[in-house]
Amino acid sequence: MLQQALYLLEHTYGYSAFRGQQQHIIESALAGEDVLVLMPTGGGKSLCYQIPALIRPGLGIIVSPLIALMQDQVSTLTQLGIKAAFLNSTLSADERRTVAYDLRQGNIDLLYIAPERLLQPGTLQWLQQFQISLIAIDEAHCVSQWGHDFRADYLQLNQLREAFPGVPRIALTATATPRTQEEIVQRLELNAPKQFVSSFDRPNIRYSVQAKQDGRKQLIKFLATQRGNSGIIYCLSRKKVEATSEWLQSRGLNALPYHAGLPTELRAHHLTRFLREEEIIMVATIAFGMGIDKPDVRFVAHLDLPKSMEAYYQETGRAGRDGEPAEAWMVYGLNDVMHLSQMVDRSEAHEIFKRNEKAKLEALLGWCEETSCRRRSLLAYFGEQHETDCGNCDTCLTPPKTWDATEPARKLLSCIYRTGQRFGAGHVIDVLRGKMNERMKDLGHNHLSVFNIGAQLSEQKWRSIVRQLLVKGFIHSDADQYGAISLMERSRPLLRGEIQLFLREDIDSKPENMRKTKT
Ligand code: ADP
Ligand code: ZN
Repeated sequence: MLQQALYLLEHTYGYSAFRGQQQHIIESALAGEDVLVLMPTGGGKSLCYQIPALIRPGLGIIVSPLIALMQDQVSTLTQLGIKAAFLNSTLSADERRTVAYDLRQGNIDLLYIAPERLLQPGTLQWLQQFQISLIAIDEAHCVSQWGHDFRADYLQLNQLREAFPGVPRIALTATATPRTQEEIVQRLELNAPKQFVSSFDRPNIRYSVQAKQDGRKQLIKFLATQRGNSGIIYCLSRKKVEATSEWLQSRGLNALPYHAGLPTELRAHHLTRFLREEEIIMVATIAFGMGIDKPDVRFVAHLDLPKSMEAYYQETGRAGRDGEPAEAWMVYGLNDVMHLSQMVDRSEAHEIFKRNEKAKLEALLGWCEETSCRRRSLLAYFGEQHETDCGNCDTCLTPPKTWDATEPARKLLSCIYRTGQRFGAGHVIDVLRGKMNERMKDLGHNHLSVFNIGAQLSEQKWRSIVRQLLVKGFIHSDADQYGAISLMERSRPLLRGEIQLFLREDIDSKPENMRKTKT
């Protein structure tokens, strides 16, 4: 069977060798096992299900939420001489009938189907009349209620297990923390799946983050290093997308806007231009998203913070798919932080969901303030430990200024301990800064020895310390306990005065002595 796989790889696809874990994944699927594949964007996930689906007898079903991508995949496959089709809401009744006819005639080997289509009454039963070789579930992280791509339809895909017993299922995603990984296995009810986790490192992408002073000025300076290149600029709001693209156009740059508020045809037109033209900039909201297959995107710039590390990774992952050097550039400021957390607060979502969003945002913020290798930190977030610094990120190339935060950090840790490890950052900082209010009196925390021992540092500075200690694993913020901060094992040597701690200097903060300290 492996021979067959190699034959297909060479003769149908025209590649000389499998890449990364492709071969092992294909072997597992051929053996009829359920499989979970975590591979970064551009890693080559498609072959992992296409090849075994073609080799095993019967029809391969691919569940995909991305209608645009489905069309692309099917036309690419057709060009390769593979019999593929798709079923989604874009098809007319006639076209649907043609697909159904071709299926009955055995003229289709791979069928792409949108989850909502698959789950329509009768569809599963209808598909049961065919021999099914394999079921692939693409973008499997959409099953996670915590993720930003959650799709309710995905929760029902567990039905595939009973509808097609004995048919191997292969779930694939480019975004997964260990927690999402577990969620995928559980919710899709995969059978003791073999899990293949590829490295998420994208060594050709250079990461850099700057504190926002004058976003546009900083952007222009950055774009000056990108002459002749194509790229994506992400903004949070539609308004900002339009303003930014107009402004770039007025400066003679080939920039186009893209957001969900534009007419469908215009959006499609801009997408086509972006894919075809060189030296073109797409200014977009996150509506410009999954499945953009332009290999030579040289930069992804964020004028606003993404919602999470997962989102950041996915958005920046659209750069450099061709393996050539690419830039992931971002500016962030305090306003972004406030804006985003307010958006989370104001959302109609469940309390528990909002807290989770907040925790994700904090992780991202911590990462923005990272003083050591940004890539190592990014990959650590996804559960990957790397032993050495990358040498290709801003912190490696220009190490940031740090300050000795040992004493303040010890004060903070003591304060967390003395207040019982039950309070969020806000209250702990209030205690340190000696802020008197009703709550303080009620709790009697104004009588603690740690009350008012940190008044010389601003609230902002303390927040920065808290975030950095969180990210360094000295303390822990429990998303299930209203963000209560507790001490971690690592904090002991710091509390005992056995180690020194240096933290990143907040670039846009004024020197402490210029600030009025409120007491
Ligand atoms: P993903 O779905 O993981 O983002 P794709 O399956 O679209 O990635 O593959 C990304 C690119 O890599 C595609 O252009 C694909 O043709 C190419 N590719 C995949 N596998 C191989 C291989 N074994 N050898 C060479 N190129 C490959
Ligand atoms: Zn680095």
